[in-house]
Amino acid sequence: MQGIFLLSLKILLGILLLPIAILLGIQLTGEFLHLTHDSHYLATTHALLFNPIRSDNKPRVPPEQEFHANQYRGWYNPYQNLKARWLKTNFHAHSSRFEGADSPQTLAENYHSRKYEVFAISDHMLITRPKELPKELLFIPAYEHGANIRKLHFTVINPSEFSWDWFPVWQGLARRKTMAGMLQSTSDFLVLNHPLCPGVFMTSEELAQLTEIDAIEITSQWNCNKSERGTLRLWDETLQRGRRIWAFGGDDTHDLKKSTGDGYLLVHASKDQSSVIEALRAGRFVVAEGEDDFHAPLPGRITLDEHGLFISLDKTVDRLSVILPGVGTLSENKDRRELHVPWSSLSTMPYLRIQYATGYRRYYTNVLYQIGALK
Ligand SMILES: [Zn+2]
Ligand SMILES: [Zn+2]
Repeated sequence: MQGIFLLSLKILLGILLLPIAILLGIQLTGEFLHLTHDSHYLATTHALLFNPIRSDNKPRVPPEQEFHANQYRGWYNPYQNLKARWLKTNFHAHSSRFEGADSPQTLAENYHSRKYEVFAISDHMLITRPKELPKELLFIPAYEHGANIRKLHFTVINPSEFSWDWFPVWQGLARRKTMAGMLQSTSDFLVLNHPLCPGVFMTSEELAQLTEIDAIEITSQWNCNKSERGTLRLWDETLQRGRRIWAFGGDDTHDLKKSTGDGYLLVHASKDQSSVIEALRAGRFVVAEGEDDFHAPLPGRITLDEHGLFISLDKTVDRLSVILPGVGTLSENKDRRELHVPWSSLSTMPYLRIQYATGYRRYYTNVLYQIGALK
């Protein structure tokens, strides 16, 4: 009897100690490999499990050369020099390779028929390319990263390599920063998707510290509390915390028969990959939300000059407004296509954004800011 009891006790102890032994093993191996730098895989596992890297990355947008080329009187304006043209673009779409209803090929043809000029497929943890592409459609590789139960999803644009999800179970801020830092260093542009969906619930406080991401998605069909413009408010609050971050939009289609085209980007670039990436990084794009639109109103000019801010669209809109994020509307014109704000009003504010609307369709520019106000 005693023998059986002792044996059970040993088995129980073994079960309890085994995970500790495994973790200790990884810790020691990682320590060793960290010193010798000869295995990326195990050293990364070790670093992620035991020493979440608290990166001190500064936001990488806008890049330095854009920053210098697009400033006026101490302000950064992504739209200061509009020399290319507006391209209708979507970076967030799922194919039948994972979750989606439509084949990569069908997706490409459909977006092309709806006048998109730049297009990506962002399957979960898969880089998908259509076999053939309509000639006029520029395809940029991407994937949606994230399989963890807290559903932190990123659109990884033009990845140099694929990164596995190292935190399928738990992911505090330090690990979120670590993961985002890895994705940032292996991509041209990194977007945090649907930040207010259940399981994610990003706060502006967290976003202010997650300096590795370039943009947050403010429009998508999974926007969770879309009716209250929750993600737009989250972006504004993050700007108020002084964090330099762009807004982003896509439709996150999973089925072309449903909610496709209700979020997209108008990117000001020439139709080649490097020009589009450069425009994303510079913030030279407008987020469109609502229904798909073949004739979206486009900014002809958003400039800062000796008279102040001048905005001119190529069509009349219901409402054209300059917004002071988190505070309210600074200036608004109804049924017009132009708006002027003098320096006397601008000099008192740290940053602003522009939005315009026609019917249910809304368009949001990126943020223009006084240098130093956003870090
Ligand atoms: Zn997602
Ligand atoms: Zn998605």
